[in-house]
Formats: sequence, structure tokens, C-alpha cells
Amino acid sequence: MNQLNGRRQTANPFLLYLGATWKVAVSISLLAAASAWSQPVPGSLDAHWNEGASDCKATPQAPLQVHAYEPQTFILRQSPCADFEANFLYLLIGSDKALLIDTGAVADPKEMPLAKTILELLPDKDQKKLPLLVAHTHRHMDHRAGDPQFASLPSVQVVSIDLEGVKAFYGFTDWPNGIAHLDLGGRTVDVIPTPGHNETHLAFYDNRTGILFSGDFLMPGRLLVDDAAAYRESAQRVVDFLKTRPLSYILGGHIELNTAGHAYRFGSHYHPNEHRLELAREDLAALPAAFENFNGFYARHPNYILTNPIRNLVALAIIAVAVLILIVWGVWRLLRRRWSR
Ligand SMILES: [Zn+2]
Ligand SMILES: [Zn+2]
Repeated sequence: MNQLNGRRQTANPFLLYLGATWKVAVSISLLAAASAWSQPVPGSLDAHWNEGASDCKATPQAPLQVHAYEPQTFILRQSPCADFEANFLYLLIGSDKALLIDTGAVADPKEMPLAKTILELLPDKDQKKLPLLVAHTHRHMDHRAGDPQFASLPSVQVVSIDLEGVKAFYGFTDWPNGIAHLDLGGRTVDVIPTPGHNETHLAFYDNRTGILFSGDFLMPGRLLVDDAAAYRESAQRVVDFLKTRPLSYILGGHIELNTAGHAYRFGSHYHPNEHRLELAREDLAALPAAFENFNGFYARHPNYILTNPIRNLVALAIIAVAVLILIVWGVWRLLRRRWSR
């Protein structure tokens, strides 16, 4: 068990129960090579995700779209009109517990009834709702704004969002190495550290469906690079982890590209002709090499874009200052010529 649970256990009897039943363990994943993996449970991605609207006020739409991939796996999409980030959230249900990956970009339950929707999806066990763990791919606000909706619910535990809290909860002692395991009852989810976009980033591999839930680490959109070296190592770590495992799909936190591979304008509430949500093993396999060849600023790949927004901003600022100096210098020369006449 971990310190976080220990601290929370004293505060809340429901969490005492949760703390005692969550089996979180870390191991260097050596068993992968030896084990034979069962066939993933199949599911359907046959959904038209809410694409928002050019005029959201004139086109009212449901804030949350719920798609059953299979009876125990739900994909939730926040409407681009509710928030331009239009996050994808994932609910995985085991026989003892459920796991919600991310809580999205909208805090207000009146605008985005996330907790209510999740509770309705949770089955009962022993005349009570199944206990729920709310975890995050990383601490960026668009992946955790809905957390407060779960704060006071019974049998719900929310993993803290800071790096120390993440390490403690999952029991990572050699971050970013090691794999943690969440036991949902008849369903194990492996938790893989994937820093690079953000220092707290995790990917979740579901042994039931063979899906990798990749957050902002890998998605059809802009892969915003914070630490390129860490990102490249994370990519290699996930490639190695999945080498001997079945992989049905890679499902990320957003869709930011259209079918032609062009990114929507940042902040747009309208996503016509969206790229499909799912990425494949090839996209992941190409990621370490994409970082080897990354110029540090911007690189387009078939299904994602690598970009370092901070560096691009700095470069833009340097260019702007250089242009300004050139203009001032030009004006100064012009004035000097006039004065000397
Ligand atoms: Zn992010
Ligand atoms: Zn995000």
C-alpha cells in the first residue's frame, strides 16, 4: 500500500475500505516475455464523435457523448462546444471496482454532469455502487477539471495530481521505470510512466481489451513536447512493454486533426471531418525515431504532429525582436540621411 492511501484512510471510512481493497503493486515487467496473453475482448469504435459547431449557441448539443465499446468499457467524449479541448475520458469496469481515466476540461456539473453520468454507468454490487477510482493521464487542467464533482462521493477515490502523489499512490520507487498494476477484479490495468509531454504523464494498458489509453502522450493531434529526451525514452518504454502483448487500439485524450491530417485552429469549437480517434501499433513504433529526427520545433507525421510550443514561442519572439531591430535601424539610417542633406 502507499502513503497516500494511508493518509486518506484515517479521514474517511469509505476510503478505508477502498484503501484496503485496491491492490496496487509495482514490478519490473519481466513476466511479459514468459507469459502467453489471452485474446482481448473485442469491442466497437463505430461512433461519430460530436464534432461541435461553428456556432455553438445556435446549435445546442449534449455536453457528454457516451459510447459503449463493449459492456464493461465506455468511451466518453466532451462536446467541443462545451470546451474546445473536447477530451475523451474512459471508464473501465471490473467485477470489484471501476476505473475512470481523466475527468476532462469542464468543472461545473451543470455544464458537464460527469459524476452523475459515471454513477449511472456503474453497476451495483451488494446493493451499492461499485467503488470507483478516478485516475489521470497527467495533471494538465483539461484532464482533471471534473475532479471536484467526485470529491465528496462515497466509495470514490481520486488520485492526487502532483508527481509525488502519483509516485506514492502507484508505488513507483524508481520513476519513470517500473510498471504498476491496478486490479479491478477479473481485469488488470497496467500503468506505465510516460513523462515528456508532462512530468506526471501515465499510460494505461487494459489487459481485458488490449487497449492502450495514451492521454496526450500519443493521439491524433499535436504532441506538445515539454522534455524531448524524457518523451523519447517514454516512447521506447511503451514500445518495449507492448512488444509481447496484444494491442487492439491506442486511444488518446483528444482529436486535433482532420481526416487530411491538418490540425484544427487552437481553441476551435468546431471539428468537421475529424481524424479517427484510434491509433495503431505502427504509430507508436514510429515515435522513438520521430524523436531521434526531431528538429526541436515542429515535425509532421502521418497521424500526429510533434511540436515544442515554448521553443516555437521563443523563436517567434527572437524573430520579432530581430525584425524590430531591423526596422529601427532602417528608420535611423533614413533619418540620418535626411539630417545630413
Ligand atoms: Zn496535456
Ligand atoms: Zn490534453
